[in-house]
Amino acid sequence: MDEITKLMIEQLRDAYSAEKQALRGMQKMMKAATNEKLRQGFQMHIEQTEAQIERVEQALEQLGGKPGRKVCEAMRGLIEEANHEMSDHDKGTMMDVVLIAAAQRVEHYEIAAYGTMATLAKSAGMQELGELLGQTLDEEKRMDAELTKLAESEVNMAWIEEARSEAEEMEGANENRRGGGRRKAS
Ligand code: FE
Ligand code: FE
Ligand code: FE
Repeated sequence: MDEITKLMIEQLRDAYSAEKQALRGMQKMMKAATNEKLRQGFQMHIEQTEAQIERVEQALEQLGGKPGRKVCEAMRGLIEEANHEMSDHDKGTMMDVVLIAAAQRVEHYEIAAYGTMATLAKSAGMQELGELLGQTLDEEKRMDAELTKLAESEVNMAWIEEARSEAEEMEGANENRRGGGRRKAS
């Protein structure tokens, strides 16, 4: 087995582990999401991820490799961080913002991984492999763009409006307390 194939197999094993961890992470994220479109977005990408895992297996097979026991440390960290953040918040508009932040970090890591792998495969003349990885790369990019679109269209404003109105209510309550104090003094 040549060095190029060996390196591609290493990279694919990392991606295999990353996808498996991302899959479990997203299942948790979906349960924590309130916004219906966000839930659907996670659901859709969970299904895509299942197909992506199969694609990695297919790619490894093409190269004469197997998934192995490699653990993607970066994805482990990303998911661990996401889990901490999820346990810090209750379900609701703020949680949805937090979920998008965590999910986009995951997608960006995947975009980096598949972008690099697809380019390396094509550089080495492995056109078919490059295209297979390119399909996953496109799905990761689309998920990232979808999350941005959701943040812009509703999720961010839902939370910002709620946070502002809570702040105003708080202000109002303080105002009343101060007012009451003045009345007593006069
Ligand atoms: Fe993926
Ligand atoms: Fe990794
Ligand atoms: Fe993804």
